[in-house]
Amino acid sequence: MKTINEAARKTRVAREADVVVVGGGPGGIGAAVSAARNGADTVLIERYGHLGGMGTGGLVTIIPQLTDIYGKQQIVGLTQEWIERLKPREAVVYPKKEHWGSMDKDIVKHYFDQIFFYVRLDRVIYAAIIDAEISKVILNDMVEEAGVKTYLHSWGTEPIMEGNKCKGVIFESKSGRQAILGKVVIDATGDGDLLPYAGIEFEDNIPPNFRIANLALCFWVDGVDLEKAENFRKNEPKKFMELSHKCMEAGGLPGYLKSLLKNHESIVWCHNRYPNKSQVDVEELTRVEFEGRKKMIITYDFFKKNLPGFEKSFIVLSCPQLGTRSSRRLIGEYKLTRKDLADNTPFEDTIAQFPDLDRGQESLDHSLMYIPYRSLLPKNVDNLLVACRAFSSDEHVQEWFNLIPHCIAFGEAAGTASALALQAGVSPKKVDIKALQKQLAKQGVPLPDFKKKVDYKYTGPPLTSSSPFSLH
Ligand SMILES: Cc1cc2nc3c(=O)[nH]c(=O)nc-3n(C[C@H](O)[C@H](O)[C@H](O)COP(=O)(O)OP(=O)(O)OC[C@H]3O[C@@H](n4cnc5c(N)ncnc54)[C@H](O)[C@@H]3O)c2cc1C
Repeated sequence: MKTINEAARKTRVAREADVVVVGGGPGGIGAAVSAARNGADTVLIERYGHLGGMGTGGLVTIIPQLTDIYGKQQIVGLTQEWIERLKPREAVVYPKKEHWGSMDKDIVKHYFDQIFFYVRLDRVIYAAIIDAEISKVILNDMVEEAGVKTYLHSWGTEPIMEGNKCKGVIFESKSGRQAILGKVVIDATGDGDLLPYAGIEFEDNIPPNFRIANLALCFWVDGVDLEKAENFRKNEPKKFMELSHKCMEAGGLPGYLKSLLKNHESIVWCHNRYPNKSQVDVEELTRVEFEGRKKMIITYDFFKKNLPGFEKSFIVLSCPQLGTRSSRRLIGEYKLTRKDLADNTPFEDTIAQFPDLDRGQESLDHSLMYIPYRSLLPKNVDNLLVACRAFSSDEHVQEWFNLIPHCIAFGEAAGTASALALQAGVSPKKVDIKALQKQLAKQGVPLPDFKKKVDYKYTGPPLTSSSPFSLH
């Protein structure tokens, strides 16, 4: 490989802070807001002009998996706060609380017919559909109210290292190359962008048949007569399938999802999957932007010409940022692996517990996935945490547990831990776990009851064959 030597240079220090969070997606929002609310002087660096990551810019506007199979809400904290703040603007919809966990066939059908995200394992679950634009405003409000100093249009490019200690971050923007010095740095880039430069061990193997092996270029079509379109899909399923196949043969995509938000009655979403060699290879990202837009046009032209209801439709939006499902993963102090997908014992340092809903019978036998604090900590570097989908996990755990509410929870734990560690004058690796768990519980994060012996066994009804699996 040909290389050049760059000249050594002096870099302006834009600011000094307690905690520097790089990346303003679900993980970064969780981290920055929690660190700041717990008293840390916090800086947030985001490469785009809006916050929310995939949840806004990627047009991934579904916050799923909030209740377990018994209808009990297991992800609360900042995820719930985001949802609460959307409510006054009617910018969020989800199944009624009294229906969470219901297995009543009519109720299940009622929700499944709206969108399959509302049903898992024959039950209604709490999954919220959110408005991306209103969310951008709300996330701005949340960081601003918490006192976070945010830099948008700023790429975090390199950690500043002194031996094995992270001391800040270099970032690039229209204002040039600058540094922010920080006592703790949190990598919330989704892709673990800081890991290679900090000398932190990571992996990026993903089997090609996994959901997370795919990039996405989601887009929305507006002006659809949805009643007409849905009547056609319902009353002539065979013809609809034939047309879907024809659309794919022509190089397009097979179908669409309805937006359920108020006043979105004429909008449909087109989600998609683009296999790739790597989701952090700039040539691959460019290739998928080009291929995705080609497919978008083919799909739209086909729908407009052939699907009843699409006659007056138009492409209203393609995702402002390419959809990335997975890339680098930290190899941390604890790496969550396939064996943890069958273990029902909480870790002593559990900082979150997630409903396990996408894996059929295995999920029924493993109703909660416990996340240890150590899965956010690199092995060989101090003062740096990972709070995003790059958490320490093998490809199996990553496949099921890297969703938006999960990443907010990683962020909430990392931000809170950083602030508590700084208050105690210790490194984040040495934070008092009991104090961290107590503070997280105070913030509304459900955690296991460590006093009770966990002896979980599923005794409910068996699954019907129609149970849908993960389609994120
Ligand atoms: C098509 C698709 C469908 C999905 N479906 C669902 C679903 O239905 N529900 C669900 O919950 N999840 C879903 N997911 C997964 C989910 O969206 C992501 O796993 C989740 O958003 C990860 O959050 P994150 O904070 O780790 O990363 P991201 O959401 O990617 O956020 C990372 C943020 O960091 C910023 N950033 C990155 N690098 C830098 C840098 N170097 N400097 C500064 N800023 C940087 C980015 O711009 C972004 O704002 C889907 C993903 C895709 C792509």
